Amino acid sequence: MPSRAILGLIALLLWPVLALAQIPDRAPDLVLTGVLTGADHETYRELPFEPPPGTQRITVAFDYSGRDARTTVDLGLFGPAGFRGWSGGNKASFTVAATDATPSYLPGPLETGVWRLVLGVPNIRPTTRARYEARLWFDRAEAFAGFADAPVADGERWWRGDLHVHSGHSDGACKSRSGARIACPLFRVLQAAAEADLDFVAVTDHNTVSQAQGLRELQPYFDDLLVIAGREITTFQGHANLFGPVAFVDFRLGGEQTPDLDAMLGQAEAAGGLVSVNHPALPSGEACMGCGWRAETDWSRIAAVEVINGGTLALFQGQAENPLDGVAFWQARLDEGHRLTAIAGSDSHDADRPRGEPGAVGRPATVVRAPALSQQDILAAVRAGRVFVDVAGDSGRTLDLAVRAGGGGARMGEDLALPAGLRAEFAAEATGRPGDQIEVLVSGAEPYRLPLSADGPTRFAVTGDGRRGWVRLNLRDSEGRLILIGNPVYLNWR
Ligand SMILES: [Zn+2]
Ligand SMILES: [Zn+2]
Repeated sequence: MPSRAILGLIALLLWPVLALAQIPDRAPDLVLTGVLTGADHETYRELPFEPPPGTQRITVAFDYSGRDARTTVDLGLFGPAGFRGWSGGNKASFTVAATDATPSYLPGPLETGVWRLVLGVPNIRPTTRARYEARLWFDRAEAFAGFADAPVADGERWWRGDLHVHSGHSDGACKSRSGARIACPLFRVLQAAAEADLDFVAVTDHNTVSQAQGLRELQPYFDDLLVIAGREITTFQGHANLFGPVAFVDFRLGGEQTPDLDAMLGQAEAAGGLVSVNHPALPSGEACMGCGWRAETDWSRIAAVEVINGGTLALFQGQAENPLDGVAFWQARLDEGHRLTAIAGSDSHDADRPRGEPGAVGRPATVVRAPALSQQDILAAVRAGRVFVDVAGDSGRTLDLAVRAGGGGARMGEDLALPAGLRAEFAAEATGRPGDQIEVLVSGAEPYRLPLSADGPTRFAVTGDGRRGWVRLNLRDSEGRLILIGNPVYLNWR
């Protein structure tokens, strides 16, 4: 019988190597191949390469033959300035960038010059010939596709998430094991999101991107929770969330690089990001410095507005309609002709706040209709307006809107051409509770309420006036409280 130590060693040798980086969906930019022989036993081989100027991320996928003859090849990376990591035989792929790297590797600026992929050969038999192949991709920052190496889940459905959460990488706090208030570790924040049954979460710390490295490490553990890269760009003239990239974007409005909001939005767009204005109706003052939205704004460059913020929801005991909610601000922008998706965020600064309380992770929630649970799919659906806001964070309720007019049709977030005099038949498709009501909001008209139909959609009609406008829904409970906020169908927008 082999000893336990030898069994352990065999397990180690046979352990499958893990793919731990998102491999770009295109041919590699460089392929390094070669042959190892018995002469390479217990030696290191260096494979030099030079990333093109402007490279902000290096991704490597590695494979070799001869495993059946116990050939073993370890992997590591050195940059022009020195050591960048060693994954031995435990990872088949890895990525390295300024903000984040696959565990085993060191994040940091990518120096220009000659890099070396280093192959260590702990074992190759004297007569073995093993082929190796290293595929390398060199990307700029805007190519960042998220922390997950594949969609976390597939299938067209409503995905529920929180797009505004703080960790100890800014001012998010929670209790330590002995009860002290500490800067809250990312693990606890993601755990709170998982326990709130969320499908996705964006950790949006103020101005920093230092959370990227921890999120990269944690995403494979939270394999039922998509982690979306985010940050809260926190200026003296207002706060905006930037979703998608991990590259630095300058928040110092008035500075040399970023004289105004337009310059900042230019950087955000270059990095491939989506921008949402946060808690726009908050006043600015010593109670909340720079919180209100005062920046001169080209709204065509903004994708979304946070209409419900968990901080204000908590201030008003869970009542969504309050003097500080962002709904009126958002609708005023719609009336000006700006197409903006209403979203929400808990703005949680305390991962210990009990689930379901206003301002706890997941309340309010943003619910997104997307074909898969990936960063690209969720953010594309936010841009497209396939979104409703769930004030109560109650997973039992959903809200959608469909319309037919003439030969055309549309759904929430989409466009409908509605000439003057043509009647559009709308169908509110909602899952609610007994006594819930559908509130119909048509631009330029008084809102009205209909009882939520128990079987099939709740129907209503709008006759076109030929002008640009919008139609959207709220869902209210039996006591009239605002529970869900729907995005518009846009009339005659194009
Ligand atoms: Zn804020
Ligand atoms: Zn915040």
